[in-house]
Formats: sequence, C-alpha cells, structure tokens
Amino acid sequence: MFGKFKGISASQGIAIGRAFILKHEKICISDEVISEINIGKEIERFYKGRERAEFQLQELRQKAEISLGKNNAEIFEGHIEILLDNSIEDDVKSLIENRRFSAEKAIKQVINENVTVMEDLDNPYMRERAADIKDIGQRLLYATANVELTSLADLNEKMVVFAADLTPSDTAQMDKSKILGFITETGGVTSHVAIMAQSMEIPAVVGTGRIVDQVKNSDMVILDASMGEIIINPTDEQITEYKDKMHLLELSLLELAKLKNLPAETIDGRRVELCANIGSDQEVDNALKHGAEGIGLYRTEFLFMDKPQMPTEEEQFRAYRKVAEEMTGKAVIIRTMDIGGDKDLSYLKIPFEQNPFLGWRAIRMCLDSPDILYVQLRAILRASHYGKIRIMYPMIISVSEIRALNEILNNVKQTLRDDGIPFDENIATGIMIETPASAIIAKQLIKEVDFFSIGTNDLTQYTLAVDRGNERIAKLYQPFHPAVLSLISQVIQASHEAGKWTGMCGELAGNEQAALLLAGMGLDEFSMTPSSIGKIKKIIRMSRYSDLTALSEKVLDLSNSEEVIAVLNDVLKKYR
Ligand code: PEP
Ligand code: MG
Repeated sequence: MFGKFKGISASQGIAIGRAFILKHEKICISDEVISEINIGKEIERFYKGRERAEFQLQELRQKAEISLGKNNAEIFEGHIEILLDNSIEDDVKSLIENRRFSAEKAIKQVINENVTVMEDLDNPYMRERAADIKDIGQRLLYATANVELTSLADLNEKMVVFAADLTPSDTAQMDKSKILGFITETGGVTSHVAIMAQSMEIPAVVGTGRIVDQVKNSDMVILDASMGEIIINPTDEQITEYKDKMHLLELSLLELAKLKNLPAETIDGRRVELCANIGSDQEVDNALKHGAEGIGLYRTEFLFMDKPQMPTEEEQFRAYRKVAEEMTGKAVIIRTMDIGGDKDLSYLKIPFEQNPFLGWRAIRMCLDSPDILYVQLRAILRASHYGKIRIMYPMIISVSEIRALNEILNNVKQTLRDDGIPFDENIATGIMIETPASAIIAKQLIKEVDFFSIGTNDLTQYTLAVDRGNERIAKLYQPFHPAVLSLISQVIQASHEAGKWTGMCGELAGNEQAALLLAGMGLDEFSMTPSSIGKIKKIIRMSRYSDLTALSEKVLDLSNSEEVIAVLNDVLKKYR
C-alpha cells in the first residue's frame, strides 16, 4: 500500500520510521456444542492456550523488570498465578466436558462469572482483582484461539503506532522511548491521546478515519504531525525531503530555546506568566527545560490511572512533593483528580453512562465519594510545606460546590493541625472555568476562590455542544467561536474586577493566533504543553500590549471563527 492520508494535527513534529499496528482482532466464539469425540481436543487447546498466555506474561514480566524495575514487574507474577488458578481450570474443563462448550466459549463464561462476582463485592481490592481477571481472561482467550493480542508493551524498537483509538490505559504502561509517533483513526485535537502526545513531545495525528487496515506492520511511514499528514511507503525522494524538513524544524526550535531565560513581556511592559501543563512528576524536567515559570496544571488523574489500585496518601504526597521541590518555589497548581469522561479507572466502579462527559465526572465524583478527595487533599496539603502549591478543582458549575469543597478542605487542614503536620496555611485555591455555567457566573464564583484557570478544551466542547474527541464533528469544534471568546473575555474581566487573576490551561493557551488575542484580553497566565512555551514567548515579546488590546476588542465583534482566525493570521504574518 502506498499513499497519503490526512488527519488532525494533534502535536507537532515529524517522524520517519516503521509502522506498528495496534489491532485487537475480534474472536468468533461459536455457540455450537462440540461433539463428544472433540472433548479431549478442546481441553488440550485450552491447556496449549494457557501455556502460550503464560509464556507471554513471563516475557512481559522480564521486559517490565528491565524498563520499570523489579517492584513494578511483580504485577505479572500475580497475573500468572490467576492464569494458572485451579478453580478456573476446573470450571473451564467442566463446561467443555459436561456442557460441550468450545474452549473459547468455556473460558469466556468462566471469566465473566468470576469478574461479575468480584465486581459486585463492595471492596476496592476485589474490584481491582476483577479488572486483572478480565485482562488475563482476554489474554487466555486470544492465546487459545491462537490470535495475536498486540499491546504497546510489545514494541521492541522505535516505531510509529497506528490504532483505531488509544485510551489512556493503553498508553499508561508503554515504554515512551519506543514510540516515534501516534496515528489514531478517532479523536480530536484535545482528546487525551493528543494531550499525552504533546506532553511527551511525540508527533501525533488523530481522527484520520479508516487507516489501520490500510497499513501493514513494518511498512515505512512518514508522519508530518504539524501538517496532519501521513505517507505510507514513501519514495526515497520523499524521505530525503522530510529529513530536510526535520532538520529545519530542529533549527527553529534551537532559535526559540534562546528565549528560555527571558521574561514573557510585551515591548510596552505587560508581563504575563508562561507555565507548563504536566501529567506526572516525571515531566518537571521537561517543563523547566522549556523555561516554564510554574506548573499551571498538574493533571493528577494519571497518578490514579497508572496503578491497579488507588494511590495511597503517601504515594500521592511523594509525587506532589517531588514536583513542588523540583520547581523550587515556583507555583505548582495541582488539579484534583479529573476522572470520568474518557478517563476510566478499572478499580472504581463507574457505572455505564449514556453521556460520560456530562456525567459522573471530576468534582462530582469526588463530592459523592469524599474519601478519595480527603486522601488527595491531605497529600496535597502535606506537600505544600515543600514549595508553592495551589489547589484547583475541575468541572465546577456552582458556588455551592466550592463551598462544599472548602468545607472538606478545612476539615482536612484541621486533621493535619491535630496531627502536628506542617502545611501552607495560606494555600491558594482556584477553579477551572470549563463549563459555560461557571463562565457565566464568574462574578459570583471569584468571591469564593483566589484564581481561575480557563479549560478551553472542555469549555469549547460544552459551549458549542461538540464532543471534543469526535472526529466527525471536528470541524465544529471551534475554540475561536465568538461564543467561546466572549465567555473567556468575561471571565478574565470578572476576576480582574475582583482584584484576582485568571490563567488558561486548555490547549488554546499554547496556540500562536490565540496568544495575541488572549494577551490582549488581559489573560495573566498561560499554561501549555512545555514545548509550546518558546513560540508563545516569542509572540508576546514582539507585541505591544496596547495593540493587542485593540485587536482583542476588534475580534470580539466578529461574527464567526473563520473571520477571527483570518484577522489573527493577518497580524501573525507580520511576526514571521
Ligand atoms: C480543559 O478542559 O481545557 C482542561 C485543561 O482539562 P482536561 O483537558 O484535562 O479536561
Ligand atoms: Mg477539562
């Protein structure tokens, strides 16, 4: 297969390498009863499959031991134990012998029964085991059917990954050094695979539509993520052309790197803060490398998703403290867990929902299960003794939510005082403005908090009623829509009138066109994927605040995104 494909640019950069297809083929499980003479054969197939699955798990254990350390590899020991469990073996054999099920059908039934029993227990440990059994059951099923079950853990060399979709749990355990780029059939510019690719500085194109079945493993691929283009089996000339482009890109990045220690200040002296979004304590080095003046968003949910069970207070404390210490007195905004939407936790029983993005998500979940929030707030407060930490709550829609959160926070503070544990008594609290409701009542909300941070990824999705991850309506996902811009401007004004400040941690904060507009609206802090800091700083430093204010007033009167983008592009041209 040769050819060019297009998708949505989800992160910058160019990659040239071989394709790795992450595809879970469907297994057909027949309902037909097997004949008596085949009973022995089916049982033998089950044992062969189990052997294969055991071999795969041993391999994964060895790989994990090398890349993640001995402790993290232990999880696979537990998986092997479950795989070889006697009661599973007996139940599968009994279904084959007595009910004449095929090996696959028997395995599926036994695994489903075990999972249901565990999931129904009101015990987080058992629920975690249910997720393990599901995982192992799938492996056993594929091994028995002799169908390859690919996973990102199978990558042995640097490759370009193709997948229909990549969930955060797919990517949580991969070895990042083996990924040259991502291409997914689904997803939009603010889907979590896009955000993750940006923070890892890996080129990515999402929302390509059908592509996985048009590529073969090891096909040569050029991925020009900045342009949203993919070339399968390119010619030698194309490879040379893109190698040259890669070189030019590196040179322009070196130019931007020279701005690292200079302030983000306009010619006429308006200073803004440029911060980094991070998803783990491992990303601080990268944020500092790009000159981040603080962490404007620490998405803590990945700490919860990287593990088979809820991280303990101690584990969380260690991660938050590490970030606070490494940022040496620079502000670190820790956002409380934002699970739900497209971010699932295997050990939390999140019921099926018709509209998860409108459902039991983020702060709603935490207010209903305050024990989770309690542990997290205690860990954050303890870490606040070691740096400048701020707390931020996601998905707020009302004043009463903030009051309920403040009450919980005050209770947690009291437990720390009682235990004689030091923390920052004056820790600042803020909220994300990512729902139209919160933007509209910004005046009331700002009285309850110290700052706002605008989450344009969700604000755009909720204001325009356009799913941020749905490539079919990606054209309608317009952060430059006048409705979104008007809300942003109102929020900034409301905070300034109250003598407080507003930041932005949605993807728009790292967009060059938007930088002109947002700085003109008076945005105080811009938080983005670290690699975007240089290009935004360049724009701020080349601008006059007075010009940007006039520009933002003009833009707020325009009728649609196209007009807005055209005006901004026109101004940006003069900067190049
Ligand atoms: C946002 O919604 O803009 C945001 C920063 O939060 P997340 O992308 O994690 O939902
Ligand atoms: Mg959000």
